[in-house]
Amino acid sequence: MTRLLLKNGLVVDPAAGRNGQFDVLIEGERVARVGKGLPADGARVIEVPAGFVIVPGLIDMHVHLREPGQEHKETIASGVAAAVAGGFTAIACMPNTTPVNDQAGITQFIVKRAVEAGLARVYPIGAVSIGSNGDQLTEMADLRDAGCVAFSDDGRPVATALLMRRALEYAGMFGMPIIEHAEDPSLKGDGVAHEGPMAGMLGLKGIPGAAESIMVERDASLSELTGGRVHIAHMSAWQSLRAVRTAKSRGIAMTCEVAPHHFTLTDERLRGYDTHAKMNPPLREDADRLAMLDGIRDGSVDVIATDHAPHHADEKALEFDRAPFGIVGLESAVPLCLDRLVHAGVVTLPRLIELLAVNPARILGIPGGTIAEGGQADLTILAPDAAVTFEAATWRTKSKNTPFDGWVLKGAAAVTIVGGRVCFVNDAVTGANGFHART
Ligand SMILES: [Zn+2]
Repeated sequence: MTRLLLKNGLVVDPAAGRNGQFDVLIEGERVARVGKGLPADGARVIEVPAGFVIVPGLIDMHVHLREPGQEHKETIASGVAAAVAGGFTAIACMPNTTPVNDQAGITQFIVKRAVEAGLARVYPIGAVSIGSNGDQLTEMADLRDAGCVAFSDDGRPVATALLMRRALEYAGMFGMPIIEHAEDPSLKGDGVAHEGPMAGMLGLKGIPGAAESIMVERDASLSELTGGRVHIAHMSAWQSLRAVRTAKSRGIAMTCEVAPHHFTLTDERLRGYDTHAKMNPPLREDADRLAMLDGIRDGSVDVIATDHAPHHADEKALEFDRAPFGIVGLESAVPLCLDRLVHAGVVTLPRLIELLAVNPARILGIPGGTIAEGGQADLTILAPDAAVTFEAATWRTKSKNTPFDGWVLKGAAAVTIVGGRVCFVNDAVTGANGFHART
């Protein structure tokens, strides 16, 4: 069995109440011990450089992997390579592939491909309705047995209140959440941008914040009715935050996530009709962006997830109205979070780890979120003070659709360890620190 001893790392593990210098001994795929002054005993020793921080493996619970069906945008292999390069040891993938992940055979295919790739763990999310068409519920028990950890019709909302009610009742029997792409289709219409002065000026059709919050309010009522858990995906509008806060204050089982682009960018970015600023939900106004930061600060927001949505350059090169929604996010999330949340004083590092590891694990009911003796050795080592310049051309994701190319930020993922294996080393920040040697 391979043994690896990480010496004198600053360990930040809020779920275990740790925030200080510790050694972490990994044996095979598991964490054997966390303690001070652990003997090497033949283990390969890595002195963790000063300023680096060992945290539980980060989990991105909102990723589009595009395989099966759109492998020109991303494959499972390229997606998990991007994940570990971004510091994520596990990701959950949305079912809106071609075909939709609405049956066990497709879930099994995804799981198999992910195991073959052997990098980040992949937890599939099954469709709520067959084909995500909003008509008939999927066989949720089969999907769960095949490996699904949650259900969603992401890309679309769960079509009707009745379907959402039934979904919450069935998923609730297994204790699984429904992840909602909160959007009222009639209000969204053929909108392509946030409804506000900027869209008006540019002549773009708008999507009001209320298109999102109306669905959050519907789902809060249905969660209250059924006791089932609703997780709001990629929340973007201040009205939605208000609805989530109200639901939480009433004891409703609702959680929510925010994507980095919604706390860093606004619809100002639409000037010049840059399709890398076209996403759904759209970039909104500064009041919305500040509301997302406020929710992150006070704990109303549970999770930061990327909504990693790869699209081919040819598609994003279309005119604004016709280009697809979405940007890649796996390889930009950690620097954006460290720079704009931790260094900016919005949250502490332990709180960021709750948003990126503890809460995703808890909501999805998957292992991780802490560095536990006997638990799987999924660890991320952060270099919070490292200077980073994004070069999308060097990213591992197959698609480079990002509005962040060229950004200079402070903070990076340095090393990603999955099941005791060093799966990624960021050479630009680690230098010659011995992470590369074979384990
Ligand atoms: Zn969505």
